[in-house]
Amino acid sequence: MITKQFLETYPLLRKYPITFDKLSHSQWGTKGAICNLPKPALNLFCKKCQSMQTFNMENDFEHFAVDSPVRHSPVGKIFEVRYLCAGCGQYRHTFYIEFGVDRAPKGDARTFSGWIRKIGQLPPWEIDIDKNIEKALGDDSVLYKKGLICESQSYGIGSYAYFRRITENIIDELLNSISDLIDEGDKEKYEQALEKVKKTRVTEEKIELVQDLLPLSLQPNGLNPLKSLHSALSAGIHNKTDEECLELAETIKEVLIYLLEEIKNRKNRAKEFTERMKRLLKQK
Ligand SMILES: [Zn+2]
Repeated sequence: MITKQFLETYPLLRKYPITFDKLSHSQWGTKGAICNLPKPALNLFCKKCQSMQTFNMENDFEHFAVDSPVRHSPVGKIFEVRYLCAGCGQYRHTFYIEFGVDRAPKGDARTFSGWIRKIGQLPPWEIDIDKNIEKALGDDSVLYKKGLICESQSYGIGSYAYFRRITENIIDELLNSISDLIDEGDKEKYEQALEKVKKTRVTEEKIELVQDLLPLSLQPNGLNPLKSLHSALSAGIHNKTDEECLELAETIKEVLIYLLEEIKNRKNRAKEFTERMKRLLKQK
């Protein structure tokens, strides 16, 4: 049903799968059923407070139940959902959400699958690149921005192509930068693998050569980002839908950003540590 993740992060027009309960389907028009739609609190940027704030849903689903056109089912309907900043009580985010099904529900199944999607939002989705990411990407930040624009329109195939291109462009540098973060014991193996990396031009092969040497500290919750990247790049998208490509594009984007940030943070920490040590030694 309507979730925090859907409202906060999904681009316009991207379908979010949900399950309708058929038993209550016939009761959708009654006050109770529509009022029971979830109203999750959101964490969004407030332009008035100039910071991330909690936003609570301000309007009630109840008023949708009053008009006769929306009496029976939310399917095919558009709901306006307004969220107000808890910090200043003035700034709002508004979403227009459509409920739909691709196929009519079959006979006596108790539930049937459908989707919700945003068909509009205010303020609009912003194509805004984090300054640090922009700097780390250099010339490729232009491609990155185009990838985000495609993503904002749910053009998954286009978005995938842009993020993939960036990976191809920066993979050598990325793998080299990671070598500083590799555990001492694996360093030699990693250097050897990097030598082999230089001999291939295929991005998937490069990643395959080094992915198993990634230290656990770079695998959040045991998930190896290089393995995710590898599988997203090898997916072969020629017969995939925009929807499927969006998911792959998101994986590529998230892994790239994660690695770029990890590399930067660790370098900063090392630098700070060195400077502190130098100051300590001077005092002696
Ligand atoms: Zn605010």
